[in-house]
Amino acid sequence: MSLIIENLHATVEGSPILKGLSLEIPTGEVHAIMGPNGSGKSTLSKIIAGHEDYEVTQGRVLLDGVDIADLEVDERSRAGIFLAFQYPAEVPGVSNANFLRAALQSRMPEGEEIDAVAFYKQMYARMDELEMDRKFTSRAVNEGFSGGEKKRNEILQMMMLEPRYCLLDETDSGLDIDALKIVAKGVNAMRSDHRGFLVITHYQRLLDYIQPDHVHVLADGQIVKSGGKELALELEKSGYDFLKQSA
Ligand code: ADP
Ligand code: MG
Repeated sequence: MSLIIENLHATVEGSPILKGLSLEIPTGEVHAIMGPNGSGKSTLSKIIAGHEDYEVTQGRVLLDGVDIADLEVDERSRAGIFLAFQYPAEVPGVSNANFLRAALQSRMPEGEEIDAVAFYKQMYARMDELEMDRKFTSRAVNEGFSGGEKKRNEILQMMMLEPRYCLLDETDSGLDIDALKIVAKGVNAMRSDHRGFLVITHYQRLLDYIQPDHVHVLADGQIVKSGGKELALELEKSGYDFLKQSA
């Protein structure tokens, strides 16, 4: 089982952003993507999730062997793809609990109702793990949340939905060190042979807590370097200067 990105080319408003990106994330592995600002990291994650602003002009994304080009965002989500956004959206008027419940309900077979008691029990257990106050259940999704609270809420969604492929776009940005550790704990608790992770990060720090199996550097719409977790340390030390030398 794997999420395969094959020679992906994509444009936004006519400008090419991804320029032949290939990557394979088998279940059981954590892949980290690092790279300079504007290199296309968020674009990659949004394209996999099915964001409509981006046009795939060449290449494909295979979810366990199935091309997902024709799947809508919600279909991709139900098929097992989850994206924790770099900038999570606010959903005024919808409480966190109702949002999660609706998302889980949409995954149930026709005619089956979610068990409310079991749902709340599960949600509170997850919130306890993430050290989230219970008041966040009744607040509108992300509305007025601090940056760090939004990121924690993304991880709560991930833990509740139990996706097979988790894409985390700079979930570490805006988090203080304690929150970072809690988020990493949540991610690590979800690591499994049946689940793959793509962790996008700007800083090596997150990877001290979420140990990646592979690290890739994305620059100008392509993976230009791949390695083990030591590559992240190298980048932290010497930055992305090597990109200019080879250009
Ligand atoms: P990263 O996440 O690596 O910092 P992004 O994927 O967010 O980079 O952006 C890559 C490039 O695509 C940037 O130049 C950005 O301005 C551009 N871009 C991304 N999304 C849009 C959009 N919706 N409209 C216009 N340009 C965009
Ligand atoms: Mg980004």
